[in-house]
Parts: sequence; C-alpha cells; structure tokens
Amino acid sequence: MRLVRFLLSGKIGFGIHLEDGIQPIAWEPYEDFEESYLKLAHGDVALLAPVVPTKIIGIGLNYRDHAEEFGMEVPDEPTIFLKAPSTMLDPGGTIIYPERSEQVDYEAELAVVLGRQARNVPADEALTYVFGYTCGMDITARDLQIEDGQWTRAKNFDTFCPLGPWVETELEPGNLDISFSLNGEVRQSSNTSKLIFGVPRLIEFLSGIMTLYPGDIIMTGTPSGVGPVERGDELEMSIEGIGTLACTVA
Ligand code: MG
Repeated sequence: MRLVRFLLSGKIGFGIHLEDGIQPIAWEPYEDFEESYLKLAHGDVALLAPVVPTKIIGIGLNYRDHAEEFGMEVPDEPTIFLKAPSTMLDPGGTIIYPERSEQVDYEAELAVVLGRQARNVPADEALTYVFGYTCGMDITARDLQIEDGQWTRAKNFDTFCPLGPWVETELEPGNLDISFSLNGEVRQSSNTSKLIFGVPRLIEFLSGIMTLYPGDIIMTGTPSGVGPVERGDELEMSIEGIGTLACTVA
C-alpha cells in the first residue's frame, strides 16, 4: 500500500495512492483503516509530507563510501542527530536557501516510518515495528555544520527535510537502489545493502535510547556523491520500490 497525506479544499486527509486516483481512508493512524467509497482524481489533491512524526532522527556517516568521501573513520556505533518536524517539506515543494549559509548540500536517504511504539527492541524483531518507507532528503547547511561543531542549526532550517511522495508499506529495506539527480544529472547512485548499520540495527540502537512513536522517522544516512545546491536547482531522488521525490531550491 502507498499511503499519502493530502490537502483538498483546505482540509487534510489520508488516503491510498492508486493508479487511477486516491482512495481516502478513515483510520486509527498506523493501525486499522476503513476505505471510503469515493475516489479522488490525482489532479484534485496536493500531496503533503506523508506522515506527522514526533521526531525525525538522522544518522550520520552510514554508507562506507560517504564516510570515505569526508575522510572520516567508519564508526563503531551509529552517529545520531535530530531534525525537528518543522523541517518537513511537501513533495514538489521549495527548499528555502538560508541567507546565512553559503553551502547548502543535498543528501538523498531512505526514510523509515515507525508503525508501533518501540522501546528496547532487539534487531531481529525490529522490522515488525516499521510501518513503511519513503524518500527523504537531509538538506544540510554544510558551512554552518563545520562552523558550529554540532549539527542542530545546520540540519534544522525550515524546508530542510523533503519527504514523500508516499509511504510504501510492503517493502524489504535491505537491498534497494537509491539515486539522486541535480538538474537531471545523476549525482548519487548506491544501494541500501551498502549501509554500515542496516534498518534493524538502527531501530535496536535508537529504541535503546529513546521511545520511538508511530510516525517517527529515521533518516538512514546518505551515500557518496553529496554536493551543493544553488537557488533555482531542481532536485530529484528515487528509491527502488518506493518512487520519486522532487523539489526545487529558491
Ligand atoms: Mg544525512
């Protein structure tokens, strides 16, 4: 199932994305849902970032090739940081380039959406806590990340977390092609099998630190090929089995 969140006539709803339209659903988020009878035309709704998390957890340096790119050692344990939910950007949205930064980078990532409350979950049970997967961009003001020495400001400007276009609920996360293109030119191309810490280990590690709630998002890290964006650029990322997320910069 492809779960979408949408805006229609000023109201927000959830639905299932189908080839021929969107089937609205009434649901107890992440548990049961009931389909309505009507179907909405794709052109009548605006897609929103597909979930509303209590937190977005980022993972630093989680592809071997990306760690090498930055000349950093492969970590023994995941390096984690937070992005506020206020960073979320809807599919097709516009990243606002902050005036105080002179280097804003793209990072294309597999985003995990939790489906059940998780605390101290072992890796071998972790995937049963997942609701699904979507595309996420961990947009980063690289100069401010270096200047500050910690990452909160660099990772948390409004619009710095494009997400979507939907949550795919039937997917195995361990072997998916992931790619990113800037103005139509491929810049990142990798596979989730190259993650240093896979999704089960990340959930085990994170749920041992903080309770994960339904809707919470784990940004699993980005492969090599990271680089800067400029105002006017068109960004597009794809993950096998999910789809394509696009946005622009202004
Ligand atoms: Mg990242």
